[in-house]
Amino acid sequence: MSKPVLLTVDDDPEVLNAVERDLRSHYRADYRVVKSSSGAQALDAVRQLKQRDDQIALFLVDERMPEMSGTQFLAQAIKIYPDARRVLLTAYADTETAITAINQIGLDHYILKPWEPPSARLYPVLDDLLSDWFANARQSFDGIRLAGTAYSPESFAVKDFLASNQVPYQWIDMDDQATVREFLSGASGGVFRLPMVFFPDGDTLIQPTTRELADKLGMQTRAQKPFYDLIVIGGGPAGLAAAVYGSSEGLRTILIEDSAPGGQAGTSSRIENYLGFPSGISGADLARRAAMQAKRFGAELITAQEVVEIKRDDPYRKVILSDGSELSGYALLIAPGMEVRRLEAPGVDELLGVGVYYGAALTEAATCRGRDVVIVGAANSAGQAAMFFSLHARKVTMLVRGSDVSAGMSRYLVDRIAETPNVEVLLNTGVVGARGDGRLEAVTVKNSVSGEERELSATAVFIFIGMTPRTAFCADLVIRDDQGFVLTGRDVMVEGRRPPGWTASRDPFLFETNVPGIFCAGDARYGSGKRVAAAVGEGSATVSMIHQYLQTV
Ligand SMILES: Cc1cc2nc3c(=O)[nH]c(=O)nc-3n(C[C@H](O)[C@H](O)[C@H](O)COP(=O)(O)OP(=O)(O)OC[C@H]3O[C@@H](n4cnc5c(N)ncnc54)[C@H](O)[C@@H]3O)c2cc1C
Repeated sequence: MSKPVLLTVDDDPEVLNAVERDLRSHYRADYRVVKSSSGAQALDAVRQLKQRDDQIALFLVDERMPEMSGTQFLAQAIKIYPDARRVLLTAYADTETAITAINQIGLDHYILKPWEPPSARLYPVLDDLLSDWFANARQSFDGIRLAGTAYSPESFAVKDFLASNQVPYQWIDMDDQATVREFLSGASGGVFRLPMVFFPDGDTLIQPTTRELADKLGMQTRAQKPFYDLIVIGGGPAGLAAAVYGSSEGLRTILIEDSAPGGQAGTSSRIENYLGFPSGISGADLARRAAMQAKRFGAELITAQEVVEIKRDDPYRKVILSDGSELSGYALLIAPGMEVRRLEAPGVDELLGVGVYYGAALTEAATCRGRDVVIVGAANSAGQAAMFFSLHARKVTMLVRGSDVSAGMSRYLVDRIAETPNVEVLLNTGVVGARGDGRLEAVTVKNSVSGEERELSATAVFIFIGMTPRTAFCADLVIRDDQGFVLTGRDVMVEGRRPPGWTASRDPFLFETNVPGIFCAGDARYGSGKRVAAAVGEGSATVSMIHQYLQTV
């Protein structure tokens, strides 16, 4: 397998040679540099590379070229290599063009000419993009193989765990491959249970739990130290930010995550409003970067472990994990975020994981190719999912309970949906039933104004009908509101008095609960911002309060 290609295009031979030289000197070991002096010539090269089944990791293209501009070239090239990262070289006057390109062709970055010194102005940008590409690209496959059936909840759970932890795998569809089925049944004495996970070292796991998978994959699932300064519960943006700041400031920090780092944000196909990423960033990329950053500073991240209870044993704070083990520390940060609210309608629970999904279930994109899907909900997450599945499905129908799609969705998404021909929005409409024989076949929808009911055939329905805080595990110790949000700071004071059981000689800090040393940040906190940036801000800000708390224990 030849090295992935970095393809650069510029009509100015001097600039083209300079780009080629700089790319070769930094990326020669891992990538092959291919250059072209026009868009048309470059498109020929792209087609030839595709015929040879070579990979293109990145296009670095001058915007101003006669006959075909950089943007026009990229619009053609990404149809052939949709995963390649896209960078334009621009002069100052082209900044407007670059911003348009971000919207039209998903431009990843634009670099202003000249880019001297490349160590400061070229390589950091390309390094980041290439690491994202590498994490997402389908490499020639010698890794994990997962055999299952497309419409099995157990197979879905394994796929979801691998995908959300960004572990590449090859899917063996046991519905389609009769020969594989025969082989497997012969190999295991006529009995086989799915899903099966085959590892490159020859090991096989049958119907594994997420912890068995995590252990086999070499992920950390158990704490290494007997005691920590800070224990963070939940690896969403709030928890990850606290882990980065805590560990970078010298605190012995451990983060416990039930599923995969990233939380709700990690499931977002593209977060467009997070500061510093003008062309957006996928939740998976943001999560991977944050987890890497926290580990680099020495934080421990353990996955596939749920915190089932927290305890106060002054001056220590303790957490009990789902495997029965116990961890002790001085301070706790509760950052469990929110989980989806369940849709109550006949047939929905029975078809969970076999066509009915809570959240975006990006792993199901391939199953939806060329078919009809339904999205229930009208918040940003539903809008993002509609846009994502419109790229794969034949038709996307969005069911909106209210009479106005823009009530709970950002303007940019409302506009995108309106411009996308294969997305239809049905207002005043909800799901009243789901049916299918072993897998979803159709949903029944009802218009709340006319009372009319009808059936929509659908391969999948993705449900986004709101969230509730995931705080049951701490209900015995911290004060929550009637919806389960954890109260902090002034909200735990009653008529100016400190909460019962409060032992410190000061009022609770802004993000501190009614128990000194137990903090809460992010979506699960009463009054929080319910945005990635807000969660990151709260998680980071809590660390300075924890430092102040630690001076007193
Ligand atoms: C599909 C989608 C798209 C979104 N898009 C945007 C966007 O574009 N821009 C934006 O600003 N916001 C967006 N949001 C909102 C944003 O993702 C959230 O506000 C943010 O993720 C909240 O962060 P958090 O850390 O508080 O909680 P979460 O992200 O919910 O993370 C909490 C984590 O804690 C873990 N956990 C929970 N309980 C336990 C336990 N007992 N033990 C161990 N682990 C536990 C969970 O598994 C989860 O990983 C989106 C949300 C969704 C669902």
